[in-house]
Amino acid sequence: MLGAKAIARAKINLYLEVGAKRPDGFHDITSVMQAIDVSDELYFRQTDGSAGLISVRCSDRRVPVGEDNIVWKAIEVFLDKTCVVLEGGVEVIINKRIPVGAGLAGGSADAAAALLAMDRMLELELLETELMEMASMVGSDVPFCMVGGTSLAKGRGEILEKLPDMPSFKVVLAGSDAEASTAEVYRRFDEMNEPGSSDGMLDRMLEAVRARDLDAVCGALYNDLEAVTTEAEQVEEYKKTALDAGAPGAMMTGSGPTVFALVQGLEEAAEVALELGQVAPVTIITSFAGRGAELG
Ligand code: ATP
Repeated sequence: MLGAKAIARAKINLYLEVGAKRPDGFHDITSVMQAIDVSDELYFRQTDGSAGLISVRCSDRRVPVGEDNIVWKAIEVFLDKTCVVLEGGVEVIINKRIPVGAGLAGGSADAAAALLAMDRMLELELLETELMEMASMVGSDVPFCMVGGTSLAKGRGEILEKLPDMPSFKVVLAGSDAEASTAEVYRRFDEMNEPGSSDGMLDRMLEAVRARDLDAVCGALYNDLEAVTTEAEQVEEYKKTALDAGAPGAMMTGSGPTVFALVQGLEEAAEVALELGQVAPVTIITSFAGRGAELG
């Protein structure tokens, strides 16, 4: 086969507790991650190599298309681990719909999809464990983006425990035009030097997820990075707007600055999105997804 298509799904963090900085520069985290149905599409094709071994193109001009693109890294890791020598090259086109630099792990999702697409395109049929090992070499959130659904993530995010899938609750995203640098947000977290107050919250969240109870999930939403976001005013405004519009819970995802609101059904989602649309430049209605990256 000469080509492959893959779908990359974004994530939100229902719970994100940040621990100490490790000697390797990463932070230990404890997170409940949830895949959502906002996705990029990646089209892979083999080329004659005249444009180089790897070439990446992206519909969003803010995304780097050279070696800095995480898809490039995923392809390199894939070729390295499988010892495949391509006769020509590989070209990737990313149709980007996941907001960039928004705390939704768009890059990591693309990397996960890239590993699946490479496996399909080269007809290797690697084991899931082999792909997951490569995923953790590419980036901390990439293993979760491979599996999707709902998981408890530990370590730097790569140690996963699958949790029961939840109903397809609706999610309203409120995004700004601003990108947040994950590195900068973690630097601010280290500077703050004040531990978060997560006492007992993880147990509450895990119980809520296992009970598949939206109100209980909303009561246990937690994110240590909210306190150090560069977009504090905006995050507060989006959260308040969502709660005033009737959402039972709202929180910043990952390193932000996107805020997500959770609701039961589409009608409530429409109401919340209507109000968020008055204050946020980007609003998206989506839902929990039981899957991660997949072949198209
Ligand atoms: P993180 O995963 O670091 O928490 P995020 O989810 O907030 O980040 P991403 O959309 O993954 O945000 O993008 C972070 C940065 O990664 C972007 O500013 C961009 O420069 C770079 N990047 C590299 N490859 C990609 C890609 N395929 N898609 C999006 N951004 C990418």
